[in-house]
Amino acid sequence: MMGQIRKPIEEILSYLDGKKKIVIMGCGGCATIFHTGGIKQVKEMGEILRKEGKEVVEIGLPFAVFCCYLPMSSMMIERHIEDFKNCDAVLMMSCGDGLQTVRRYLESKNIFKPIYPSNNALGFFGEGPKEFIEKCLGCGECELGKTAGICPLTQCAKGLLNGPCGGTRENGKCEVDPEKDCAWYLIYKRLQETGEIEKIKRINEPHKWSKATRPRKLEVEPIDLHEKLKETKKVIESLGIK
Ligand code: SF4
Ligand code: SF4
Repeated sequence: MMGQIRKPIEEILSYLDGKKKIVIMGCGGCATIFHTGGIKQVKEMGEILRKEGKEVVEIGLPFAVFCCYLPMSSMMIERHIEDFKNCDAVLMMSCGDGLQTVRRYLESKNIFKPIYPSNNALGFFGEGPKEFIEKCLGCGECELGKTAGICPLTQCAKGLLNGPCGGTRENGKCEVDPEKDCAWYLIYKRLQETGEIEKIKRINEPHKWSKATRPRKLEVEPIDLHEKLKETKKVIESLGIK
């Protein structure tokens, strides 16, 4: 998911300077998990902005309603379409993906409003529920098949595809950041554990950064949202969650 942190409130307020009517829209996906745009944070932001003399409409999205996925989030946008039309600015408590998805949707409805981010997105993070670690840059040419399932582009300070660099510390920590494990030490250990240690001798081809040219586009067969939500409901019930 998209790791993110909230921007300093001073920066957020500076964007909204001179704007009276604000729509705050959160995100029920990653922003809820990272406490940067869940229903609670949208309410808190609403209180802050009201104290600053703003008129605020809060749009909190329930968990698992991602604002970057329009088949779901557009239903919430439509419910508040008049608020979007009448506001002076929109504050998106999501990642930049969510912000731009909502911006484009509003533009498709001929609604052109200033739209501002409340968060800084950091990249793809995994694990949780408390600690999350950056795992992937979305580089477009996954190298994990060559590196024992450990991404050197995110885990190695130098992003080396052939390592280690020679600076690895005796305790297996990184030359650049002694707090961090050396990615290539981890790759070496894991290749040993999986009986593939011979692979450490292979010279990997340079990474194809051409696959990362921006913006990339994907086309997929749209999912059947109703069916998917029914599946989710079934699984949730099977886990004993009412
Ligand atoms: S090699 Fe690229 S796609 Fe694979 S995990 Fe690393 S950044 Fe992500
Ligand atoms: S010590 Fe290891 S993780 Fe650090 S830069 Fe060198 S190879 Fe990469």
